[in-house]
Amino acid sequence: MRILVVEDEKKTASFVRKALQAEGFAVDVCHGGDEALAAAAATPFDVLVLDIMLPGRDGLSVLRQLRERQNRTPVLLLSARGEVNERVEGLNMGADDYLPKPFDLVELVARVRALTRRTADNKSTVLRVADLTLDTLTRQARRGGADIELTAREYRLLEFLMRSAGRLCGRMMILEKVWDYGFDPGTNLVDVYIKRLREKIDADFEPKLLQTVRGMGYLLKEPS
Ligand code: CA
Repeated sequence: MRILVVEDEKKTASFVRKALQAEGFAVDVCHGGDEALAAAAATPFDVLVLDIMLPGRDGLSVLRQLRERQNRTPVLLLSARGEVNERVEGLNMGADDYLPKPFDLVELVARVRALTRRTADNKSTVLRVADLTLDTLTRQARRGGADIELTAREYRLLEFLMRSAGRLCGRMMILEKVWDYGFDPGTNLVDVYIKRLREKIDADFEPKLLQTVRGMGYLLKEPS
């Protein structure tokens, strides 16, 4: 986990760097806004600790530039006493958290750690049930090392079933979540799609993962 600390007060920057390093983070320090933008463009950081008041380009301007460049790195803003408007503006611009000065280093470390956990969660985009995987970024399904081609609707159905793995999914619930229907169209739509999906993910593989619970719905799970 790599953290960028942007703080022009050298003493504060040094304290923060040491506290984060003591917790096992790799830490880079910048003392100015332009320097911070250059560093963030060159290196993927897991969290930015960004002081609002900086000489030249200030922290809010850095944040705005980052988000305009589609950089979604979690940002913890540091704000001086009284910078309430700046703090609110920062949150509106996509900062993830803020800490007013003076702050306790223990609290800063805890907030940074919470933000790194969020990054880790966002990075895990692959759903898995037994040897069936579904990458929700690339929308690629795989089983037993083979790519499985899905239509858009089949993808939505499989994603829903995998996110609900181990839980019974009724037909009505599937219609709502996969087709956005708030009513039962009185067709066998769901059953037809389940059959197609089953041919793709289960027919050539063992064990069978997509189970029918007669009269109730469907269940995707690894048989125990
Ligand atoms: Ca400052």
